[in-house]
Amino acid sequence: MIALTASRLYTPLDCVEQPLLLVEGDSITEIGSQTARNVPAAAKLTDFGDAILVPGFVDIHIHGGAGHDVMNDDAAGLAAMERLLASHGVTSYFPTTVTAPIDQTCAALDRLAQTIEKAEQDRSHWKARPLGIHLEGPFISHLRRGVHPSGDLLRPTIETFDCFWQAARGRIRMITIAPELEGATEVIAEAARRGICVSLGHSNADLDTTRAGIGAGARHCTHGFNAMRPLDHREPGIVGAMLTDSRLSADMIADGIHLDPSIVKLFLTAKGSDLSVLITDATAATGMPDGHYRLGPFEVEVKDGRCMADGKLAGSVLTMDRAVRNVVQFTGWTLQQAVRLASWNPARVAGLRGRGKLEPGSKADIVVLTPAGEVKATIVGGAVAECTTAN
Ligand SMILES: [Zn+2]
Ligand SMILES: [Zn+2]
Repeated sequence: MIALTASRLYTPLDCVEQPLLLVEGDSITEIGSQTARNVPAAAKLTDFGDAILVPGFVDIHIHGGAGHDVMNDDAAGLAAMERLLASHGVTSYFPTTVTAPIDQTCAALDRLAQTIEKAEQDRSHWKARPLGIHLEGPFISHLRRGVHPSGDLLRPTIETFDCFWQAARGRIRMITIAPELEGATEVIAEAARRGICVSLGHSNADLDTTRAGIGAGARHCTHGFNAMRPLDHREPGIVGAMLTDSRLSADMIADGIHLDPSIVKLFLTAKGSDLSVLITDATAATGMPDGHYRLGPFEVEVKDGRCMADGKLAGSVLTMDRAVRNVVQFTGWTLQQAVRLASWNPARVAGLRGRGKLEPGSKADIVVLTPAGEVKATIVGGAVAECTTAN
């Protein structure tokens, strides 16, 4: 048994002062206050002083890191990326595909499913865990494709979707789809029926079409404002639906590059603390110097923190701990509120049980933050490691 103490704990829905958190195996068994409970004699105590214990971050949209791309790299490459993620507080993630030729996508899905299956068996290593796959493309709009290669975009059909599902052995947990495409409604309904979180994005949909997508089973939006038809006050489109429809949660890339800080504030004001989610959309370039990196089937160039391909933004080099600090800095939300957007909210949106919240019975995935929101240590499935990565 291990015991952790700190100055504060965010569940993140509640705050516990002077917390005592007990872990047995890979699970949390008890959370209380040091004033009400002594550290059990059998427990190995780690005191984190003035730090704050929060749930491990969950990144539901990430393409790579540490020089490795989730569609191209082998298990050793992904493990290096997963250690980088853990050093930035991420304990669970969805490796995310980009649009590629169908055989390349299926090969990547097969490999990613293997990585997930292996991670379920082997819990001995300190690194972020892949819990499911996010399929971003090929069912997206030509008009709002961003850097997804236009030649490989596909019209959604149940048949193609099932091809991906089979290749991934049912490990797809999230799909980004444009609701205006012919056949999208059927695929949205089928994906929702299989328990996938259907997210609307890379879309030029008008308001009515977006609502039809929600009616079919979509309940989330991918990187809000980015790769979407812009808001117009007479045709609010997908952005209007995202901001005002309480059936939709939505995520955003709060790196200060993809969205102006004032838009981050608008987004949070509209979606509130319940329906807002932070993602990184990080690429292989994350944690690496400027240069050229793979993103699925193509190459991106990174200069001064901007990931570009074809003269357009192509993912980010954002880390989740920085996204949390940015929210505090851009909007004046508290660290506790910002932490929720990176832990409990994505876990709930993605249907991940026992993650994203510190409570008895949940996984011992914990981030130790300084009062300024820097990662001091990360605990993955009960294994503690101090973090030395410069933020
Ligand atoms: Zn995208
Ligand atoms: Zn992406």
